[in-house]
Amino acid sequence: MRFCPQCGGRNHLNHNQLAMQCQDCRTLHYPRIFPCIIVAVRKGQQILLAQHNRHAGGMYTVIAGFLEVGETLETCVAREVEEETGIKVGNIRYFGSQPWAFPSSMMMAFLADYESGEIKPDYTELKDAQWFDTKELPLVAPEGTIARALIHATVDAASAEK
Ligand SMILES: [Zn+2]
Repeated sequence: MRFCPQCGGRNHLNHNQLAMQCQDCRTLHYPRIFPCIIVAVRKGQQILLAQHNRHAGGMYTVIAGFLEVGETLETCVAREVEEETGIKVGNIRYFGSQPWAFPSSMMMAFLADYESGEIKPDYTELKDAQWFDTKELPLVAPEGTIARALIHATVDAASAEK
């Protein structure tokens, strides 16, 4: 943000505040970060994976979505999974986080367990959603993403349970 949206003055980085500051009106402009959740759901030896309309190439990945105003992260996890797949989840545990540049969001990752329901994909968001055996995964999110780390953790949890 090079110019002040208040007065049009030039912004400079204020190192103490980690924000941009207008040289004319002195207003501080903090970076805007959009919180979102990403969650892997396990049902015994199976993992819930979805194909998103926005992803080309047939890749399957875990469920993700943006936090709404007034919502806890746990509520958001349960709501996104239910809205997108019709599945109710419980035992929601924090896993880790990853900043994501486009848009400037903070992805907060969770593991969850299946509680009830049959898969009914929301076809406005998803091309498909299925339970996959953790030993027979389709093409999934690439290594280095938090989505892939969630998938690994779920596969490990399934094999530890056997
Ligand atoms: Zn200004």
